[in-house]
Amino acid sequence: MLTIQHLSKTYPGGTHALEAVDLTVGAGEIVAIVGGSGCGKSTLLRIVAGLDRPSAGRVSIDGRVVSEPDPAIGIVFQEPRLFPWLTVAQNVGFGLAHLPRAERDARVAEALARVGLSDKAHVWPRQLSGGQAQRVAIARALVARPEVLLLDEPFSALDAFTRLDLQRHLLQIWAAVSPRPTLVIVTHDVDEAILLADRVIVMQPEPGRIAQEMPVDLPRPRD
Ligand code: ADP
Ligand code: ADP
Repeated sequence: MLTIQHLSKTYPGGTHALEAVDLTVGAGEIVAIVGGSGCGKSTLLRIVAGLDRPSAGRVSIDGRVVSEPDPAIGIVFQEPRLFPWLTVAQNVGFGLAHLPRAERDARVAEALARVGLSDKAHVWPRQLSGGQAQRVAIARALVARPEVLLLDEPFSALDAFTRLDLQRHLLQIWAAVSPRPTLVIVTHDVDEAILLADRVIVMQPEPGRIAQEMPVDLPRPRD
């Protein structure tokens, strides 16, 4: 369970990007966070990922406080951010240098199979389509077997067909991984939020906070 307690963030200069945000996300739950530009969505994800420090409040997983990057929490950004000088498999295995080689190779192969790109293991990132590159980014996040996967506008840069393909693919991956990871998806696309999530959180700006929470009770492509 991901617990965000009374999280606030004031940037130097005085912007109140977040004020007293409380949010609990159950194990295996899918939550979407929506809201206009500047309401603190990215700030929230960056803090949960341990990439930035809150001004106050805390983040914990199953009661364990998390304040820096942690294998239990993976993150995927809008751009795949792959290393161009590494092959697809090397990109996916990048964070696993501490593991014995056989274990690392097995995990990389498993993650690439999950995103349907086993045949691309030895190609360079520039040889991938945008959608394929984003699937590699998802594989790179999954390879650490995170309990929580954060996705910040993961499909916004893709064309409409590829976006639909990846939305469905993400749900298939989520359903196939055991135990199912918790997903927190930031999106400005309300349709995407309703398609993917069990619960939609609406944020509002100045200061960034949760304005509304709505359960989604619709049949999902994953069901
Ligand atoms: P969103 O993801 O919802 O668009 P952000 O978290 O990016 O919102 O930004 C929330 C607010 O914090 C905005 O007013 C933004 O300008 C400000 N902000 C974001 N990052 C920084 C930063 N590094 N330094 C100062 N202000 C920032
Ligand atoms: P995307 O991730 O961009 O949606 P798809 O998954 O729809 O891509 O790709 C469909 C199939 O086409 C995949 O098997 C992919 O490997 C293949 N493919 C994509 N681009 C090329 C290309 N330039 N040459 C050959 N096959 C390609």
